[in-house]
Formats: sequence, structure tokens, C-alpha cells
Amino acid sequence: MPELPEVETIANNLAPLVQAKIITNVWTSGLKMRSHLSEFDKQALPGKRVHNVTRLGKYLVIELCDEYLLIHFGMSGRLIFAQSTLEMRRTINSLNHIHLCLDFNDFFILYQDPRRFGSVRTVSKAGPKTTGQLSTFLGIGLEPLSEKFGTKELFYITRGISRQIKIFLMDGKKIAGVGNIYATEALFRAGVRPTLPCLKLSIAKCSQLVSCLKSVLLKAISKGGSSLRDFYGLSGERGSFIDEHLIYGKKENCVICKADLRRMNIGQRTTTFCPRCQR
Ligand SMILES: [Zn+2]
Repeated sequence: MPELPEVETIANNLAPLVQAKIITNVWTSGLKMRSHLSEFDKQALPGKRVHNVTRLGKYLVIELCDEYLLIHFGMSGRLIFAQSTLEMRRTINSLNHIHLCLDFNDFFILYQDPRRFGSVRTVSKAGPKTTGQLSTFLGIGLEPLSEKFGTKELFYITRGISRQIKIFLMDGKKIAGVGNIYATEALFRAGVRPTLPCLKLSIAKCSQLVSCLKSVLLKAISKGGSSLRDFYGLSGERGSFIDEHLIYGKKENCVICKADLRRMNIGQRTTTFCPRCQR
């Protein structure tokens, strides 16, 4: 599932291509996804100019003049760039599960989603006028790379909460965009046991966790994210942060202390941790 660094990578790749460009036509498969464009939404898009492309949590936000076009990649969604009608037709014919095609006249952006847990929707700017307001409207938690997310903030929002810290980190309504990969990596780097109840996080551990989460996310963005099964950049390139995972998906011993790594299910996701380094 694309997490913050992967969606940020897509936004960074897409922005220079579509900024100031006009959507001339929209095609959808009509198949059900977690949410998909209605016929009315679809009719409203042609003629709209793209003002900006950003990321909020795990959402890709394509900002138009009077609405936001939001894409959430779910488990397996991805965007594909096609630079001609021929290439677009070839892509649609050779790949299954294309659910959206945005026509920009001289190129196309396709959305592919085999498992259809993703969503494509629009939100009118009559409601949220800024991306900050849109974030609140969507119920997205603190952006971990913003200045608003620091040691004091993490300490404060975890008081009185008995949930395990890993589940808390992956709750998008608390902290934006963090999924299994980056929660697992940040907890290992910070030396925090994934099962630790939030309220037991000391101020020192909050400080380590905040700094490790920020650094792992920034490093991953600089490497174009982590390509596991489904994630590719716009032109099919793979994110190389997977080569720098210290613990996610590892089966061998701990890279720090050589202890046997332990695996358990937390919040229905497999979690790997070192019983010696993470306390
Ligand atoms: Zn260890």
C-alpha cells in the first residue's frame, strides 16, 4: 500500500507534468471502487485547469480552480503516464484494471487499481477552501513532516491512550500517511517496542520516535519510496528505499545486536521487531 513517501513521490513526479494544464476529457471504467467519480463529477472535469498537485496523508490532491480531485491508492493503485493516444490505447489494452484516464490533450494520466480498494473523488472548494481545511475535512491526522509534529505533540496526543504505539502510528486520523513499512522502520530505529502502550511512551522515547519517523520518511522520499509488489513511479520506475529497510520484511537476525527477530500480528499487519533493541 503506498504510504506517505510513495504518494509524495507520485505528487512530485506528477506536478511538473500537469501544472497549468487543462483536463480535456475524462474516461472511467464505471467499475466500483471504494469510491469513484459519478457521471456528474466526470462531466464537470473537462475544461478545468490544474493549479497544483500535493499530498495530504495518503491522498494525492490535484487542485483545480473550484474543486479538488482526490486519489487514494488503496492497496494497489498506481498512476501511469502515456505520452500519446497510441501509448494510452496500448496501455489500456495490455494492462487490466485501468479505471480512470485523464486526457490532457497531448498526454494522458491513467489510474490502474487491480484490487479496487482505491478511491477517486472530487471535493468542491465551496467547502474546504485551502488544503489545510481539506485535511481537516478529510479527518487527516498530524502531518509527521510538519513542524506541528514534534516531541511535545506526540507526548501530548498519546497521554491516556492504552492502544499499542504501532497501531496508533498507523491510524491516519492521528498521524497522517504512516503505514506498516514506515511504522515498523521508525519503531526499530527509535528502539521502541511496537506493542508498547502509548501512555507508557516517555518524553525521551517520544523524542527518538519523532526524529526517527521524520528521518525515515525524508530518506524514503529522497529514494522515490519503497517498491514492494505494487508500487511504481509514474513511468514505471521503482522506489529504491526498499534497499535501506533495516527490519521491514527481514527474516535474518537484528542488524544491530544479531538477536533473532520476532514477528507478530499487530492490528492485522505482520510486524517484525527486535526483542532486545526495542523496549
Ligand atoms: Zn537488536
